[in-house]
Amino acid sequence: MSKWLIAYILLFSFSYDTPTIYANTESVTVDANSVHIRSGPGLTYSVTGSLSQGEQVDVISTSGDWYQIQLGNSSGWIASWLTASADHSNGTSTAIVSQVNQLNVRSSPSSSSAVLGRMAAGDEAVMTGQDGEWASITFNGTNGWVHTDYITQLTGETEPVAEKVASSPELFTVSVDALNVRKNADLSSKRIGLIHQGESYAIKEVNGNWVQISLDDNESGWVYSFHGTLSSNGKQASEETDLGTVTILSNGTNIREAATTSSQIAARADAGEKFPIVKQDGDWYEISLPSGDPAFIAKWVVSTGDDSSLTEPVMKESIPRVAGTLKGLTIVIDPGHGGNDRGTTGTRGTDEKDITILTSELLAAKLKAAGANVITTRETDTYVSLRKRVAISNQHAADAFISLHYDANPDSSVAGFTTYYSHQHQHALASSVNEGLASSVNLRNRGSQPGDFLVLRENRQNAILIELGFLSNSAEERTVTSDMFRERATHGIYQGLLDYFNEN
Ligand SMILES: [Zn+2]
Repeated sequence: MSKWLIAYILLFSFSYDTPTIYANTESVTVDANSVHIRSGPGLTYSVTGSLSQGEQVDVISTSGDWYQIQLGNSSGWIASWLTASADHSNGTSTAIVSQVNQLNVRSSPSSSSAVLGRMAAGDEAVMTGQDGEWASITFNGTNGWVHTDYITQLTGETEPVAEKVASSPELFTVSVDALNVRKNADLSSKRIGLIHQGESYAIKEVNGNWVQISLDDNESGWVYSFHGTLSSNGKQASEETDLGTVTILSNGTNIREAATTSSQIAARADAGEKFPIVKQDGDWYEISLPSGDPAFIAKWVVSTGDDSSLTEPVMKESIPRVAGTLKGLTIVIDPGHGGNDRGTTGTRGTDEKDITILTSELLAAKLKAAGANVITTRETDTYVSLRKRVAISNQHAADAFISLHYDANPDSSVAGFTTYYSHQHQHALASSVNEGLASSVNLRNRGSQPGDFLVLRENRQNAILIELGFLSNSAEERTVTSDMFRERATHGIYQGLLDYFNEN
C-alpha cells in the first residue's frame, strides 16, 4: 500500500461517535434498584439472576455496552448503563482508541510476538503502560500490546467548550463523528490528536481545505475543513447565556456531586421535576438544588425544552398488531444533525441537516398513514445532543429507531447508501430496511453493516442508522436532494419496516 493510501485509511476508515471511555473496568457497583444478570450481552438473553443497588462486582470483559462479570465460579452479563465505576480515583488511567481495523493485540511489545486478539477501528481499551513505541493495554479482559502508531490516547475529561474558546474570534466545530488532527496541512502528515462531533476549537489559520486549530497545552494542529463548520464565537456564546431549566425524564434519576457517573449521588429526582441550570459542563448541567449543594445532572437524562410530552414516562397502549400496517408500533425518526451542527456539506452546498429533516417529514407522514405512532427527535433546525436522541428512543420504548443521515468521503467518486446497526439484535431490522431501500432507489447498495455510532450503541431499542448517499459526490448530491429521491427512499424505508414487522 502506498503511504498516501495508508494515511487515507487511517483518517477515514473510522467514523464513529465519541467512544465511551471505560477508565476503569475492573470493578463496578450497581447503580439501580436492581439489575438483571443475563446469559449474554443483550436484553434478549435470558435472566439468570439479579444484583441490588450498591453491590460490587468484578468485570472480566466487555461487549458493546455490556459487562461480563464474575459470579463465584461462573459468569454473567449486566448492562453497563446501570452501573457506576467502583473506583472513584479513576482520573489517572488512559483510554486508547484503535484507529484501524484488525489492529493486532500482541503478547509482548514486538511485531514478531504472538497475536492475542484484534481491535476494530473505534474500539477502546484501557492503557496500562508504555514501552517505546508500544502501549500495554487491557482489551476485552486480555492484557496485551499494541503499536502506538495505530491508536489515539484519550485522557481524562474534556474541558467545557466555552472555556476553551472564550478569547478566540472564530470556531471550528466538528461535524463528523471523529476527526484526526494532524501536525501539518497534509493527509500524510503525523496524527497528533482525535476530536469528536460537536466539539469546537479556536481557529488559528485557514489554508485551502485545511484549518489550523488550537488544542490544549498551547498545541495546535490541522484538520480537513470538509468535516466541520466554521462559525464566529459570538454565535456560539449566545447559546450559553439563556440556560433555563432542566426537566427530569424518569423517576429515580440520579443527581450527582460532580459531572461524572462515578461521582457520589447528591439527590434523586422524579419525572417532571424541574431545576434551574447554573451552567453547562460538557455532557452535564450544573443545576441549582434548594439545599444549595453542588449538583450535576447528565444532559441525556433531562429535557430542556417545554416539551411536556417528555416529562412523563410513556405508558404504551397495547394496540393489537394488524399485518400489512404499522398499527400498534412506536417508531422514533431521528433526522441527523441540526442547529450549529450542519453535518456534512455537499459539493453543491447542500447542508446535511436540511435534507435529513425533509426526509424525516416525508417518512413520518408515510409511517403515520400506515398507523404507526411516530415521534421525531427534532422537528426544526435545532441542535439535539446524541444522548438526548437515545434518551427519546428509550423513553418511548421505540419499536424502531431510524436515524437519517447523508454521507461524505474525501474521494468524490465514492457513492451509495448504507444501513448501519450496532448490536446483533438490530441486524435483522437493518437488513430488511436496506432491502426495502435497494428495491426503490437507484443508488449503489453498500449493504447493511455494523457501525459503532453512539445513537445505536447506547440505544436499548431496535435502532438503525441510514446513510442515504454521498453529498461529497456531486452527481449523487444532485440525485439525493430531489423530491423524487426522497419519495422513493422513504417508500423503501417504509416497505422495509413493514416487511420486518410482518415477519417479527
Ligand atoms: Zn450525518
